Amino acid sequence: MRNSGGKKYVTSLLPLQLGKKIQEEISDFELSRALPGKVWFPDDAEYRAQQAEYWLRQEAKDLHPNCRVTPASAEDVANTIKVVVSTNSAFAVKAGGHSSVSGASKIDEGVTIDMSSMSRVEVAHDQQSVLIGTRARWLDVYTALEQYGLSVSGSRASHVGVGGYVLGGGFSWFSNQNGWTCDMVSECGVVLANGTVVLASYAHHSDLFWALRGGGSSFGIVTSFKLPALKHPQVYGGPIAFDDNELNSVFASFEKLNREAHLDVHSSGYLSFAYDQRHKEVYNTFYLINSRGEASSPAFAGFLRTPSRFSHLRKMNMSTSAMETNHSNDPGYRESKLTLTFRNDAALMCDIHSIFTYFAGTVDYEPEGRLAMTFQPLTASHIAHSDNALGLSAKDAPLILLSVELRWSSKSTTEYFEDVVRRFYETMRTLLEENEALHPFVYLNYAARWQDPFAGYGVESVQRMKRVRKMYGPDSVFDILQPGAFKF
Ligand SMILES: Cc1cc2nc3c(=O)[nH]c(=O)nc-3n(C[C@H](O)[C@H](O)[C@H](O)COP(=O)(O)OP(=O)(O)OC[C@H]3O[C@@H](n4cnc5c(N)ncnc54)[C@H](O)[C@@H]3O)c2cc1C
Repeated sequence: MRNSGGKKYVTSLLPLQLGKKIQEEISDFELSRALPGKVWFPDDAEYRAQQAEYWLRQEAKDLHPNCRVTPASAEDVANTIKVVVSTNSAFAVKAGGHSSVSGASKIDEGVTIDMSSMSRVEVAHDQQSVLIGTRARWLDVYTALEQYGLSVSGSRASHVGVGGYVLGGGFSWFSNQNGWTCDMVSECGVVLANGTVVLASYAHHSDLFWALRGGGSSFGIVTSFKLPALKHPQVYGGPIAFDDNELNSVFASFEKLNREAHLDVHSSGYLSFAYDQRHKEVYNTFYLINSRGEASSPAFAGFLRTPSRFSHLRKMNMSTSAMETNHSNDPGYRESKLTLTFRNDAALMCDIHSIFTYFAGTVDYEPEGRLAMTFQPLTASHIAHSDNALGLSAKDAPLILLSVELRWSSKSTTEYFEDVVRRFYETMRTLLEENEALHPFVYLNYAARWQDPFAGYGVESVQRMKRVRKMYGPDSVFDILQPGAFKF
């Protein structure tokens, strides 16, 4: 009898005809042997602490892996994947745990590979690049770099993890200048399906490197990303709130900012709308950032001329902005999130806002419930950098990336709220189709479980991703054994 992480095994009694339960026991046993002290079972306090570390309450509360593994090096990840494959065990990989799809980074009954021990942030001696562990949170990255007067392209919100964010694309305050964060990555450390550890870059395994940039988690487990360090002073920006009667002017300014984004690549912003159920009104906010810390960007002129209800613009560190943005996105709720992409058009924004206001007023919220929507500019200068799997073409730009989030608390009302969100989606989609304004792009990092991001990548991109997955296969490992990820 052996004791591993609080779990006991009678190895000599394992029958040849393996039932599911016994197969799981072998997997747990082999993992405990391969990674002593790094495999955690439901009775362990460490397991319970890790179980709670998810943005979505659905993931935190409803899914219970047989064990959680916390590799601390690429070699540990390789050993984990070898055991998982040899025992045919279903698994999920978790970096920051901020996916909005329940089951993406935690699995029920299988093995959850939790990358929480891989979060180093190392600035190169010449301060030209940064090596970032896949489970670092963006706040850790910004804080570590600010002491050098540096930053990187990363999430606008502090608590998001590096791994999932970059593999899905990564929309940052530097995107108008440099494209998606994945476009800026110069090297990824990857553990392949057969346990081989490789460095993927433009020079080595360039096909794999291409697929990892936007293709999600179908090609390997990424242990680290190298990004260029950006010399930057503080950023300038913050939120400005507007009343409904100013929205025509706000939407016109947003359309212009998106259309003329190339004139000031350092400036960007997004519009967000949140329904306050107590006061029965929508809060309309524009959050703007100039990544050079300049207050006088012409991109913001239209917004600054429009009378505002409240504004809090100032110079600040990237980390301060990221914490401010995170503040309105607390973890711990049940959520349903979805996305659509449409033509840059002020009149359409106005129509969608009206639909939002109507729907928001009809929802039977729980006390902490909230419906929110965001418009983000997908500018031509952003998309122009794309040598990635996302399949976007700059000739389609400028576009608007729309996302919706509905929040509730109790499991029993899930069906109702998911139905609300689905009806809201169908209504917006119909409007956009009728106006020939719907673009097929579905941003993987904002997509609902029932959406198909890869359909929007285009046939050419998907065929190429399939070839890459086969080449670095076996195909089945990330496709079949990892059921929670989006499939193509
Ligand atoms: C509050 C909030 C703010 C956000 N802000 C932004 C933003 O500014 N810009 C933006 O583009 N997106 C943003 N997002 C979306 C975010 O990019 C996605 O939710 C992303 O998946 C989060 O990554 P993660 O590592 O935290 O998530 P996880 O849940 O850990 O992972 C997400 C997916 O990636 C896979 N994965 C993670 N790490 C690895 C790895 N190392 N190897 C292989 N597969 C891996 C997981 O298996 C899972 O399928 C935000 C989300 C939230 C909740």
